[in-house]
Amino acid sequence: MLGPVILAASRSDRMRRLITAAPVTKQVVDRFIAGETVDDIVPVVEDLTGKGLELTMDVVGEDITTPEQATAARDAYLTLIDRLKGLDLGEKVEMSVKLSMFGQALPGGHELALANVRPVVEAAAGIGTTVTLDAEDHTTLDSMFAVHEELRKDFPQTGCVIQAYLFRTEADARRLAASGSRVRLVKGAYKEPAEVAYQNKHEIDKAYVRILRILMEGDGYPMVASHDPRLISIAQEMARTAGRKLDEYEFQMLYGIRSEEQLRLAAEGHRMRVYTAYGTDWYGYFMRRLAEKPANLRFFLRSMVTK
Ligand code: FAD
Repeated sequence: MLGPVILAASRSDRMRRLITAAPVTKQVVDRFIAGETVDDIVPVVEDLTGKGLELTMDVVGEDITTPEQATAARDAYLTLIDRLKGLDLGEKVEMSVKLSMFGQALPGGHELALANVRPVVEAAAGIGTTVTLDAEDHTTLDSMFAVHEELRKDFPQTGCVIQAYLFRTEADARRLAASGSRVRLVKGAYKEPAEVAYQNKHEIDKAYVRILRILMEGDGYPMVASHDPRLISIAQEMARTAGRKLDEYEFQMLYGIRSEEQLRLAAEGHRMRVYTAYGTDWYGYFMRRLAEKPANLRFFLRSMVTK
């Protein structure tokens, strides 16, 4: 019950002001957000890759309101990529982007987001890596898939995300698997209406398994993004049955969640990519992490009253 309430709060400016101003928030936020600046994040990148993990970097931010903010988002990624150049990590460190941060919801937003994201994809290719387009709420997805298709004409490695909770996703998975895409499968983190999405955890898990099978049996590169131990074992079994080698799919988890399991999978020889979020505009990202696990919210609230 709590999840939808927290997700509604994630879109509220009043709640944003309250929560970001709370003095203890930072300690809780630090679990999920790896730093605020590029200078903070470079040592984190070196540390995690040194432990055998791969990364996908997210400069946090979304739902911007001016074209200047969209340009600033583009520049933040370009600065990061420039700093990564010296580390020579290639595809061990890729980028994740949210098109809403690149202007997708502004007037003329589809073209604006495409124009802003293209230089990021080009710069990523310049250091031997790639970009994955995150999936946001269902109203944005046709535009995201169209941007993905457009980018793939020049950069076929560009990835995208699909969400198991949406009814449309099985069809999207078939199309993307046939076209040989890199596809990250997640359960889905937004508040979606019953007309477009499963509401029940069991239904979502069943859909995840069906869609995973489509990806594993298809021609693309599946990126299995989940912390759910049951789904991780199912993915390993499906990959074996489909005859995929360990480098023909990968696991992905979020920074700060099940970190020991991330290291265990990497030590077993799996490609394990950590979605590493950093930056100052962390509110929406943080609230989705609270919504996924009510215990996080309890911890957060307790820390507010005991300090
Ligand atoms: P769950 O059933 O939610 O969790 C399984 C177990 O994992 C829990 O029991 C708990 O032990 C642990 N766990 C899960 N979440 C948390 C948490 N927040 N805090 C502490 N423990 C937790 N969603 C999108 O809609 N669009 C995206 O582009 C997107 N990108 C993602 C990228 C990656 C790499 C990952 C891992 C997730 C992404 N998500 C995205 C979020 C995703 O949709 C889910 O909300 C999130 O992964 C939780 O689902 P789960 O599969 O881990 O399973």
